[in-house]
Amino acid sequence: MNEEIEIDCPQHGRVALATVCGHLVRNHGVPLGFIENSDEPDDKQGWCYACEFVYLQEEDKTDRFIAFTDYAVVCVHCYDQIKAHHQFDGPMTSAGESEG
Ligand SMILES: [Zn+2]
Ligand SMILES: [Zn+2]
Repeated sequence: MNEEIEIDCPQHGRVALATVCGHLVRNHGVPLGFIENSDEPDDKQGWCYACEFVYLQEEDKTDRFIAFTDYAVVCVHCYDQIKAHHQFDGPMTSAGESEG
């Protein structure tokens, strides 16, 4: 049985849902980075680099991590848009910070 969960998106209609951290949803300016959780390919989840930092500290999806991420549910198309906006071109470990 395929239990697909759908969301009624104001922009994209009734499509499958995905989850992203609240930071990615609220921030439409500077890219925050985008980490995709590949543990569950059927369940799209993404979070920003700040969330990844907490995740690496906690080494699991602990209550602290979940509280920090402040997950929001979006549709898969919105998810792709958010991913495209926040994803960096370069590698995450880039040391070239020219600002400041
Ligand atoms: Zn985040
Ligand atoms: Zn949407």
